[in-house]
Amino acid sequence: MYVHVPFCESKCGYCSFYSEAGRFCDVEAWLEALDVEAKKYFDDDKIKLRTLYVGGGTPSTLTLSQWQKLIDILTRYFDFSGLTEATSEANPNSLKPEHVKFLRENNFTRLSLGVQSLNDSELAILGRLHNSRKAFSAMELVRNSGLNLSCDLIFGVPSQSLRSWDYSLKSVMNFANHVSCYQLTLEPDTPLAKKYGNDELNTAGYKFYRYAQYILPKKNFAQYEISNFAPPGFECQHNLAYWHQDNVIALGPSAVSYVDGVRYANPAMLDEYFHAAKNNFPEESRTYESLSPHDRNIELIILSLRTKWGVSRELLTPEVEAKISDMPEDLFIITDERISLSKRGMRLGNSIWSELI
Ligand code: SF4
Repeated sequence: MYVHVPFCESKCGYCSFYSEAGRFCDVEAWLEALDVEAKKYFDDDKIKLRTLYVGGGTPSTLTLSQWQKLIDILTRYFDFSGLTEATSEANPNSLKPEHVKFLRENNFTRLSLGVQSLNDSELAILGRLHNSRKAFSAMELVRNSGLNLSCDLIFGVPSQSLRSWDYSLKSVMNFANHVSCYQLTLEPDTPLAKKYGNDELNTAGYKFYRYAQYILPKKNFAQYEISNFAPPGFECQHNLAYWHQDNVIALGPSAVSYVDGVRYANPAMLDEYFHAAKNNFPEESRTYESLSPHDRNIELIILSLRTKWGVSRELLTPEVEAKISDMPEDLFIITDERISLSKRGMRLGNSIWSELI
């Protein structure tokens, strides 16, 4: 299950996730709407969940009493007895010791921290509210709590050097047991897009990604997915569910669920979500996309290829096999049973997907 917390302290210059900056007066109304949504769709049978991921937005902007209400709603409608992993996202600027204590006491196992960089001028360019000092104290706080820690880092930031990237990578490895590396991409109309062009950033990103692929495995952080690195056993089970095309229920504005080949998209914005909740989430408040068996299969192939385990050859249609054999050999690792991407293939993932689609 994914729960979308649509609130942030301010909007970062590159962000394309849905969140509202500073509308904290609406948190209680969002919790009430979440209750209505969960009751409408999940009141009948208490679905047993395997993983929980509270993301956003910025979940660490919620107060403890709001967190408690959220947990009360979720436990009212869902069965957590089989939960193997529960993650909350957080930002260094808003994460407090009491959040970490609360998460520990409520059976959370992981915290995913938006570090992004440990270089202050890069953080300022990205429009983040924290500086490197705050990021270090937040990482220390989580490490000392016993929660597993994942850190997000961004590469391809204007003015970023390989030296500063090396510093950010090596520093987070001292605290975390999971690292996610994302290339800075600029969505149209974001403040950063107006200042810099995407083409320039995209070419700049390649060497940083390549360096991450080199340095992280040296410290036992294996690349298990295009953007994700962890020592064996610390992979994010929730995200693996997406890449394995497992069913994922998602609650909150802009959340997208996937159940047995059908994708359900919730109202995209908070006000539309409130309106839907007022009317007890009528059918037309969600959009549905039913994937054909062919599209479902192609999607599963692409999702599986994102991971180091790759895809079982049994899933490949002759058409896909032919397309793969037309591409350069060094993009793939091919065995009798499976096909996965090589390191180089991981770097060129986007071009491979567009060939396969
Ligand atoms: S904190 Fe995260 S979700 Fe919020 S604006 Fe920044 S990048 Fe987007």
